[in-house]
Amino acid sequence: MRPSLLVVGSLAFDTLETPSGIAKDELGGSATYFSHSASHLAPKVRLVGVVGKDFPKRHIEEFRERSIDTAGIQVVPAGKTFRWHGRYRTDMSNAETVSVELNVFGKFAPQIPASFRKSPFVFLANGSPTTQRTVLDQVEKPVFVLADTMNLWIETARKDLLELIHRVDGLILNNTELLQLSGESNVIAGARWALAQGPRVVVIKKGEHGSMLFVDGEIVALPAYPLEHITDPTGAGDSFAGGFMGHLTRCGGTSLADMKRALVYGTVIASFTCEDFGLRRLFSLTDADIERRVAEFAKIVSVDVKPRRRAKAAAGR
Ligand code: AMP
Repeated sequence: MRPSLLVVGSLAFDTLETPSGIAKDELGGSATYFSHSASHLAPKVRLVGVVGKDFPKRHIEEFRERSIDTAGIQVVPAGKTFRWHGRYRTDMSNAETVSVELNVFGKFAPQIPASFRKSPFVFLANGSPTTQRTVLDQVEKPVFVLADTMNLWIETARKDLLELIHRVDGLILNNTELLQLSGESNVIAGARWALAQGPRVVVIKKGEHGSMLFVDGEIVALPAYPLEHITDPTGAGDSFAGGFMGHLTRCGGTSLADMKRALVYGTVIASFTCEDFGLRRLFSLTDADIERRVAEFAKIVSVDVKPRRRAKAAAGR
């Protein structure tokens, strides 16, 4: 059986304001970015989410064209799709939420189709921890479950979030969220705190400053891919998670070496997402684009740390 990756999260229409301009009613949502990104790597991506009657069929077709299984998308005929309006001023790593209309996402009760329940890899995209927990209650013996979260849940559902973290294999969040959640003043201490809550893996997203991975007592740090111009960072975090989980699903493993490579794929796919509004760049992305940038990025981060021979030795003493 081909290894599969299940994602549960939001499908949305976004209004995006960045220094590069405004885009209205763009396709968005955490599960949307994640699944399109992961589809470049994982053999099978299974998507669970909810939309209203206003969600055009062509977006469902777009998922199918990337072999994303849409059997888990619930359509609520009497409802409207989730809407988010975000704005970035100078700091491109933090979106200011201008408005949110939860609509059908407010009552989202994920129902995992029977055919999806044995997915070995699972991503719980940003959502309320109680909703995320209902997914854990429905899946059967997954190999690796990664959960995302955000400041809203840290502030309003801390107890539920801690219970969830205790049950997952990995936690992914950005550096400010980690500090807020842990009460620590630096990310290393914050990651140690998070690991003590139960997960084996903590991934920290630091926007333009890259990412860190804590696993099995090891720490891995990578820069971001150096982009000269960021058009819209929305979805970079979910694309990062999609590249990360997509690679793990493709190789079927969760060793340190697998995760280091997964971090590279996450970094590279997130960089493409930032090049245009919404999912536009992901829609034109090819596997060759990804591999080219992965090779370039590997060169950027490789360091030769062989000790330099002493001058006398070099002179042939
Ligand atoms: P990211 O920039 O990767 O953190 O994710 C951006 C996406 O998250 C946007 O497309 C939004 O539609 C979606 N989003 C924003 N707020 C929420 C929320 N409270 N719950 C779920 N998804 C959200």
